[in-house]
Amino acid sequence: MHVVVPELEQLAAQAEVCRDCRLCEERTTVVFGTGDPRADVMIVGEGPGREEDLQGIPFVGRSGKLLDQLLGEIGLERRDVYIANVVKCRPPGNRDPRPDEIDACKHYLREQIQIIDPTVVVTLGNFSTKLLLREQRGITKLRGVAYAWWKRVLVPTFHPAAALRGGQRVLEQMRDDMELIRQVVAGEVDPYAGSEEAGSEEAAEPEPVEHVPVEAEQASLF
Ligand code: SF4
Repeated sequence: MHVVVPELEQLAAQAEVCRDCRLCEERTTVVFGTGDPRADVMIVGEGPGREEDLQGIPFVGRSGKLLDQLLGEIGLERRDVYIANVVKCRPPGNRDPRPDEIDACKHYLREQIQIIDPTVVVTLGNFSTKLLLREQRGITKLRGVAYAWWKRVLVPTFHPAAALRGGQRVLEQMRDDMELIRQVVAGEVDPYAGSEEAGSEEAAEPEPVEHVPVEAEQASLF
């Protein structure tokens, strides 16, 4: 059954007409996000590509097929998760989103996370991982760990496009990260418990913050 969450619908309607950065100029559609608005797992990519821009749905091309396949391998279907991007409009020619564009758009993602309230946030690739973890290091260094993140768990992995370009090795690392996601969802890995499985000290960064008032979280999340 399709669940309607009014706050999320309102936010989507706001994004639909957004002209807060130059990416509005060449977009066909605003790709706000899709999936279960009450999902335990929320996936955050970079920005819409050509197909996504045309269809208004994230991850519909080859990357999307691979993502569906990898989710399927850990028993998740697309309808079980919520998928969104750091920027909601397509950067022309599939260039990287620029810092001012990410700054202009990130409040939508922040509010999506707060409304959906997932247990696990999965970042795909450098842009979403660095933004949410407030990190300068790249995805190659950051992946493979479940991070305690604002009372949730954040698991970074490669963008599926990197696996399509990078071949078997990247794909296998993504599979390892997917297995980590499965373990977190199943409660077998908990970075807040400081267990060995959670990846020891490294997994405890950034520090979990308890009892954060919503306003404080809104200001600080990323
Ligand atoms: S990318 Fe984000 S901030 Fe820029 S116009 Fe689209 S919705 Fe607005």
